[in-house]
Parts: sequence; C-alpha cells; structure tokens
Amino acid sequence: MCYILYTLHICGHWIPQPTPGNAGNGPVLRICKESETMRLGRPCPDTEHKVANRSQGMCDPCLWKRVKE
Ligand SMILES: [Zn+2]
Ligand SMILES: [Zn+2]
Repeated sequence: MCYILYTLHICGHWIPQPTPGNAGNGPVLRICKESETMRLGRPCPDTEHKVANRSQGMCDPCLWKRVKE
C-alpha cells in the first residue's frame, strides 16, 4: 500500500516529512512497489500513514504557539 511518512513529535502531532526539493508542497505520497509495477505508477486507493521517526521536540506550529504566548 502506498504511504506517507510522518515524524511523531512529543506534543502528539504527526507532521509529514518534508521531501527534499519539494518543500511547501505538502505531504508526499510514496508509491509502493505494487503500484509502481502493477498500476504504472498510480497510487493505491487507500493510503497508509506511517511514523518514520519520533522527535524529542515539538512540531513547528506548537513551537510558534509557545513563542507567541
Ligand atoms: Zn500502493
Ligand atoms: Zn505539535
């Protein structure tokens, strides 16, 4: 199944991992092997959401909120 990778922050938010060269374009769907070979690069109808790594810090929106308060 095709998937989107996230970083899980200590504030509990899942933030999609930025893709180099694609900053600001939102989460990037990673095409799985099946889709690549069986569907000619078209993604699966369902998307899996995976935690790729855990961060010891808060996500950017939470950090900014804290700075403002
Ligand atoms: Zn897929
Ligand atoms: Zn957060």
